[in-house]
Amino acid sequence: KSFEALNLKKELLDGIYSMGYNTPSKIQETALPVLLADPPVNMIAQSQSGTGKTAAFVLTMLSRVDTNQPYPQCLCIAPTYELALQIGKNVEDMGKFMKDLQIIYAVRGERLDRGTKLNGHLIIGTPGTVCDWALKLRFFDLKKINVFVLDEADVMIATQGHQDQSIRIQRGLRKDCQMLLFSATYEEEVMRFAQAVIPNNPIVIR
Ligand code: AMP
Repeated sequence: KSFEALNLKKELLDGIYSMGYNTPSKIQETALPVLLADPPVNMIAQSQSGTGKTAAFVLTMLSRVDTNQPYPQCLCIAPTYELALQIGKNVEDMGKFMKDLQIIYAVRGERLDRGTKLNGHLIIGTPGTVCDWALKLRFFDLKKINVFVLDEADVMIATQGHQDQSIRIQRGLRKDCQMLLFSATYEEEVMRFAQAVIPNNPIVIR
């Protein structure tokens, strides 16, 4: 199995190899052909950290971004500030050969002027800030998002407010936006949340 078989853009393959990844991990091998297919499908995936799941959804987002379009097209939410930055670092590393790619961090401490319209391509953030930026301050349009990723759903549901915020964000998306959720564990409560936030018969990978 190889990354070449996935029909990724040349800049992305270069990005992958520059990180020292030679072959896809198990989850990448299983999920990526499904995630990159057209028309896009939704997915709920159970996978621990350390399995390479971040690269799987980062590659999905980067494959579907058009850097000629000056507005946010992909949105990833994570339960903590640190995780959001870590995912963003991954996007920066893997996307470093994509010309003009701009990543936006929607996390506490980031202050934007009223009336700002974001012109970056990809937003990584925490649910509270993303909710404010999308729904209250309207810094970007959820209707223009093509890929939505919710990472660490099991940690998400343990934080006050994150479930509601995630669902409010998801409700603002187009019906045909690709929606993905990752979680390390699958207790009933996580599954219930996952089903609420990822509609349309998602593919479930465990
Ligand atoms: P994650 O499960 O996303 O937290 O990733 C775990 C670690 O595996 C990270 O340090 C990645 O840089 C690394 N990694 C991800 N995909 C691959 C791959 N295909 N080959 C080698 N290392 C990888």
